[in-house]
Amino acid sequence: MTALLEVEDLRVAYGKIEAVKGISFSVEAGQIVTLIGTNGAGKTTTLRTLSGLLKPLSGKVTFDGRPLGGTPAHKIVAMGLAHSPEGRHIFPRLTISDNLRLGAYLRDDKDGIEKDIQRAYDLFPILGERRKQAAGTLSGGEQQMLAMGRALMSKPKLLMLDEPSMGLSPIMMQKIMETISELKSQGTTILLVEQNAQAALSLADHGHVMEIGKVVLSGTGQDLLHDESVRKAYLGED
Ligand code: ATP
Repeated sequence: MTALLEVEDLRVAYGKIEAVKGISFSVEAGQIVTLIGTNGAGKTTTLRTLSGLLKPLSGKVTFDGRPLGGTPAHKIVAMGLAHSPEGRHIFPRLTISDNLRLGAYLRDDKDGIEKDIQRAYDLFPILGERRKQAAGTLSGGEQQMLAMGRALMSKPKLLMLDEPSMGLSPIMMQKIMETISELKSQGTTILLVEQNAQAALSLADHGHVMEIGKVVLSGTGQDLLHDESVRKAYLGED
C-alpha cells in the first residue's frame, strides 16, 4: 500500500540557515503520525513546507499519489491537505460561524458546507453555542477548537495540526487530544506536531523525534513512549 503522504529527504532553509536537513517519513491513510522535538527542531518549518507556504531546497513530497513540488498552497488545500497553524490564526473580529465558513472557501456545495459546520458544532458544542459571537472572545482552548474546526471545513484527507496543546490548561488539552482521537475514528488522517511528547505519543500510531533539523529516532507511538532516551529527553525523567 502506498502512503497518503510520503516525504523523502526534504531540506528547507531560511537563507543560509538550514532548518530541515534531509528528513524522510510517511503517513499511511487512517493513521495519526506525530513529529515531536524541542523548540527550533524544524517541525513547524516541515508543516509549512508541506502546505506550500515555504519552498524546499530539495527533496520529494508525494501526497495522495501526486508529487507536490511547486504546487501553490491553495491547490494543496484543494487536493485535501489542510493545516491548522501554530498560534491558531483565527480572525478575531469575525464571528465563529464566519471563521468556519472561511475554511470552506474553496468549496461551492452549499448544503455540504452547512452540514460540515453542524459537524464542527457537534464536535465542539461551545462553538455552536457561541456561533454569532466574535471569535476573539473565545478562550485560547476554544480558539484552538475553532482553528481545528476551520481546517476540517476543507474536508481534508490529511489534517496537519501544529502544537494544538500550546498554552492550554490540562483539561482543555485533554479535550483537544480526545477530539484528535475522535477525528481519527471518523476516518481523518492526522499529522500532529507537538512539544507535549507524552500526549502526542499516547495517541500516535507512529512518531518521529526531530532534533536540529533531523529525524533522530522513529517508532510506534508506544515504542517511543517507553524508549529510555525519549523518556529522559522529552518526558522529563532522570
Ligand atoms: P517551535 O516549536 O518553536 O515552532 P519547531 O520545531 O517548529 O519549533 P521551527 O519553527 O521549524 O522549529 O524552526 C526551525 C529553525 O528554523 C529554528 O532554528 C528557527 O530559529 C529557524 N527559523 C524558523 N523560522 C524562521 C524564519 N522565518 N527565518 C529564519 N529562521 C527561521
